[in-house]
Amino acid sequence: MTKLILLGGGLANGLLALELMRSRPDIDFTLVEAESALGGNHTWSFHHDDLTDAGHALVRPLVSHRWTGQSVRFPNIRRDLPVPYYSIAAERFAAHLTSLLGHRLRLNSRAAQVGPKHVLLDGGERLEADAVIRADGIPRTEAVAIRFQTFVGQELRFARPHGLTNPIIMDATTPQEGGYRFTYVLPLSADTALVEDTAYEDGGWVDRPALERRIADYCRAQGWEPVETLREEHGVLPITLGGDIDRFWRETGGVPSIGLRGNFFHPVTGYSLPDAVRVADFVAKQRDFSAPALHEAIASYSKELWRERSFLRALNRMLFLAGHADRRWQVMERFYRLPGDLIARFYAAELIVSDKLRLLAGKPPVPILGAMKALLSDGRA
Ligand SMILES: Cc1cc2nc3c(=O)[nH]c(=O)nc-3n(C[C@H](O)[C@H](O)[C@H](O)COP(=O)(O)OP(=O)(O)OC[C@H]3O[C@@H](n4cnc5c(N)ncnc54)[C@H](O)[C@@H]3O)c2cc1C
Repeated sequence: MTKLILLGGGLANGLLALELMRSRPDIDFTLVEAESALGGNHTWSFHHDDLTDAGHALVRPLVSHRWTGQSVRFPNIRRDLPVPYYSIAAERFAAHLTSLLGHRLRLNSRAAQVGPKHVLLDGGERLEADAVIRADGIPRTEAVAIRFQTFVGQELRFARPHGLTNPIIMDATTPQEGGYRFTYVLPLSADTALVEDTAYEDGGWVDRPALERRIADYCRAQGWEPVETLREEHGVLPITLGGDIDRFWRETGGVPSIGLRGNFFHPVTGYSLPDAVRVADFVAKQRDFSAPALHEAIASYSKELWRERSFLRALNRMLFLAGHADRRWQVMERFYRLPGDLIARFYAAELIVSDKLRLLAGKPPVPILGAMKALLSDGRA
């Protein structure tokens, strides 16, 4: 029987474990996680069109909230989109997976060293398998040039109902300082919501007190009075400008890698759930689970996505390199004037040629010379 070690019990390997249990009973695996629970402290959200029907079926038991639509707000437009939106709370993800995994799960087991066919744990125990599939977070590499989406989110209970029925996935009417900034609001019940202050920034650190103040200001401006903070999450997500994907894969040292570790995320949003679902399906369909074959297959898939997504990286360079940081919101406001089906394909990272032409048509909201330079660079200079 083929034996795998899935290293890192976060989103990517959690979904892969689910898919393997569903479709590959012939594969034996152990999911190894450093912490005392799976999934960390996240709320993972996605749009309806991000997933196929099969993808929806895989994640359905994990979904903790679903909404029938979503809206965006900018200084000059406000738009409601009738596209369902979903969230997975890490607690539910952990509870569901833990109950299914049984003896296949090893918590409190931190890897000190990783090879294509082995993991050496802190404390000296050595685990061996036909292959290790690594999804233990974002790698440190100079092969890819990134900028950052940073955010703090607070789940708040308000004194009175907030009045929202659907999420606001971008409210960019908030003050723009030092980058593209917006507030993201998920109404979780009549009087609770996850309110996130988010910025597209050049530096990758989170000034938590400043972001918490912005959340408080936002709530005040909406007339919402927070009476309790139920939980808080924060993140620094990579936004890709360009790079050398062949070098990226050489640096994995032959270890099959998925999730952020394998560069599987949307270049503009930093979100990885749709890719994690696709990759779980891709891996489960493999025939040869030896480490070299798996590494080769996953690397080829990643390189194919990299080529398909060159346009999205060019948009990032326009956003980060061409214009003034405080005016980045104009690029996004212009985007949200476009047809709903194009917007859905953008989030699913499945733009078609006519979408790309449409996105480039008209006067760019950034200086033309800067835009040309940004399009021609690979972001690493
Ligand atoms: C707060 C937050 C909210 C996000 N929201 C969304 C969202 O709404 N939608 C979306 O698509 N994306 C979202 N993202 C982005 C991205 O999808 C997530 O970061 C996602 O969790 C990445 O999946 P992953 O499996 O690659 O890594 P992770 O989910 O981070 O999993 C890595 C796991 O590896 C473990 N680990 C690390 N080192 C070791 C070691 N040495 N040994 C053993 N285990 C180890 C960690 O403890 C962790 O459990 C969010 C990110 C953050 C931080």
